Amino acid sequence: MIQVFSDSKNAIKAANEFVFVSIATIFENDGDIKSELRWQKQLSKFNIIMTHVKAHQGDDTDLQKLPLDQRLNRMMDTLAKRTFTDYPPSSFRGLVAPFLASNKVSIRSPYNRIVYDIKNKLNEYKIGHEAELLLARNWKIEASDLSLISWDNLKSVVKMLKKKSRYKAVKTVHGQWHTASRMCKWKQSDSHLCSLCKIHEEDCDHVLRCPSEEMTSFRTTQLLEFRELLEKMETSTIVRNRLMSMLFQWVGGFSTTEFAASENQSVNKLNAAFNEQVKIGVRNCFRGLLAKGIIALQEEHYATITAKKKNNIERWSRQVIQKLLTISMETWRHRCELVHEKEASVIETTTRTAAYDLCMKLKPRSWSLPSASRHLLDREKDFFVKSKIRDVSGWLRRV
Ligand SMILES: [Zn+2]
Repeated sequence: MIQVFSDSKNAIKAANEFVFVSIATIFENDGDIKSELRWQKQLSKFNIIMTHVKAHQGDDTDLQKLPLDQRLNRMMDTLAKRTFTDYPPSSFRGLVAPFLASNKVSIRSPYNRIVYDIKNKLNEYKIGHEAELLLARNWKIEASDLSLISWDNLKSVVKMLKKKSRYKAVKTVHGQWHTASRMCKWKQSDSHLCSLCKIHEEDCDHVLRCPSEEMTSFRTTQLLEFRELLEKMETSTIVRNRLMSMLFQWVGGFSTTEFAASENQSVNKLNAAFNEQVKIGVRNCFRGLLAKGIIALQEEHYATITAKKKNNIERWSRQVIQKLLTISMETWRHRCELVHEKEASVIETTTRTAAYDLCMKLKPRSWSLPSASRHLLDREKDFFVKSKIRDVSGWLRRV
């Protein structure tokens, strides 16, 4: 057993509780440290017990006379302060262990690099981080393949967005849409089925693949726009066609398997790049997770263009990632509009039927209405079925 004393209740809490990566916690300060603590405690073969000790307790007492926990705490404080007095930060920059107070290190997951512009040796990709493993699991990526993703470009895209769309984009990246499946799990709805196609369970993936007519036509338009963008950005034909067929295949409900090795060297190169994307997942294109390999291919293509260059690879990657992310956000928005429209039309029908039924019921009892309102009962059935819903609601209010 190892006993650890800490004057931070947060640290103790973090070490003992699971860290959920969510839209709220991901912005927390020191999220990486908390996550690391928990991770280390879990990995350790010893039983680690964390005990709280009040900060600065007995600061004015003789060190030797203090109980063990307070003595250790004070010694630690002194050591931590010496880091600053004995060694100026400039002297150990780049050498220091990650979690010293002189470095404000925050969430070290790639996610952090999306949201904040912290990039130094300390933040470099490291496998085995709990937050990252969780992301990898949610995104169905092997943790070791996370490094294939072009994080820098995704970060730039997310940073470029206005605050409100950034929030939406982050929710999209993390698949935090209120789909029927989720609402059903949260007991806020009875059915987990997609209300548009009524066949499949509606999870985030389904929203992007829903075979209902309304969604398919919307999605095709979006994807064709994406193709236009690729053309405008002078994308290599072969990259464009592969990318488009991959996306169309996925939204069509098919899975893409890795491309086999070929004898032709240039085909091999192409296959290798797209295999990176297959590893990351074609679905994750719609999260803005694009393989570095594909970007590298396009960069090579730009190098072959001899005419005056209109585009560059940074712009290309950002525009492509942004468009892919926008497609998902727009698809979700479109889905919500359709669902609400459907709900509204259901409400409308219910209102019309209810008004007609009420009229039928009241007709033989016209005496129950004030004489000035009795003419309202003379309405024909057509009025309830065909007139504007506003008039029907008005009728209901007046009766
Ligand atoms: Zn559907």
